[in-house]
Amino acid sequence: MQTDEIISWVCQYCGEENELWLDLTVEDKQDFIEECSLCCRPNRLIITPSREEDETVFIESRLIDE
Ligand SMILES: [Zn+2]
Repeated sequence: MQTDEIISWVCQYCGEENELWLDLTVEDKQDFIEECSLCCRPNRLIITPSREEDETVFIESRLIDE
């Protein structure tokens, strides 16, 4: 069974595509802060496990609420 996967997310500040190792063993929704590798600004990432077979997770990046 696959336990982790590289996923990509787009920085909401500069548009840079970042990669992230995601732990697939976590079945709950994940909500955390990741810094962009280019501009170093923190983005809020919300990972929602998908029930669809062809899609592992749904990832959403957001600006952090001030
Ligand atoms: Zn950035």
